[in-house]
Amino acid sequence: MSKDTITFTIDGAEINAKPNQTVMQAADEAGIYIPRLCYHKDLMPGGHCRVCTVKVNGRPQSACTFPVNNGIVVENDTEELNALRRNIVEFLFVEGNHFCPSCETSGNCELQATAYRLGLLAPQLPYLNKERELDASNKEVYLDRNRCILCGRCVRASKQLDGKNVFGFENRGINKRLTVDSPDGLGETSLTAKDKAASICPTGCLVVKRQAYQTPVGKRDYDKTPIGSDIERKKATV
Ligand code: SF4
Ligand code: SF4
Repeated sequence: MSKDTITFTIDGAEINAKPNQTVMQAADEAGIYIPRLCYHKDLMPGGHCRVCTVKVNGRPQSACTFPVNNGIVVENDTEELNALRRNIVEFLFVEGNHFCPSCETSGNCELQATAYRLGLLAPQLPYLNKERELDASNKEVYLDRNRCILCGRCVRASKQLDGKNVFGFENRGINKRLTVDSPDGLGETSLTAKDKAASICPTGCLVVKRQAYQTPVGKRDYDKTPIGSDIERKKATV
C-alpha cells in the first residue's frame, strides 16, 4: 500500500483513501452511501444541506467538506444520524409545496428518494403553505420555486461549469429565495437547456421543457432501486 494512502474507518469498516479526498469522496469510492442533497460530484461542495452529516471522532461534520485523515473514526449509518437527516428532509418538505403525484420529477427526485430511503413517509410537522413563484418565461427551462430546497447546485453549476452567473440567493433564513440574474425572470437570462445548471437540480424545481414523461412513471431511477444503490453496488468490486 502506498505511503500516501490514508486509512480510516466508517461504521467500523476500514477504508483506504487518497490524500485530499473528503470523507464523502472516499466513502463513495468504497461503496458506502452517505445521504446527501446539495452535494454533486462535479461541483465544489457547498456544505449547505447538512443531510450528509456524519460523526468524526464523535463530533458532527459534513462528509462533503471534511477531509480524510489517518485513523479518524467516522459514524454514518446510525439511528441517531438518520433521525437527524429525517428531520432535515422533513423541514424541506414542509417549507416547500411538494405534491409528488403531480410532479414531473417524481421517481427521479433526490428529495423524494432520500425521504423514502430514510423512512419518512409523511411529515409530522405543519406545512407552511408559503406562496412561491413559478417562472416559465424561459423558452427551454422552467423554474418552480415551490419545489426549491435552496441546495445551491444550480448556483454553483452556473458559475463553476457554465461560466455564467444565472442563479443566486437573496435574503436569509425562512425568507431565503432563489434569484436569477434578470429582474424580468429566467427568460431574460442567458440560461439554455444545454447548460449544466439546467439539469443538475435534485428536485422538480428546475426542469428542461418538452421532456416531460419521456420515461414513464414506474420506470424512473428511484422507482427501480433506492437512492444510493449505484454507490453501494461498487462495494462488491472494491
Ligand atoms: S420535487 Fe420531488 S419531493 Fe417535490 S413534489 Fe416533486 S417529486 Fe415530490
Ligand atoms: S433550483 Fe434546484 S438546484 Fe437550484 S437551489 Fe433550488 S433545488 Fe437547488
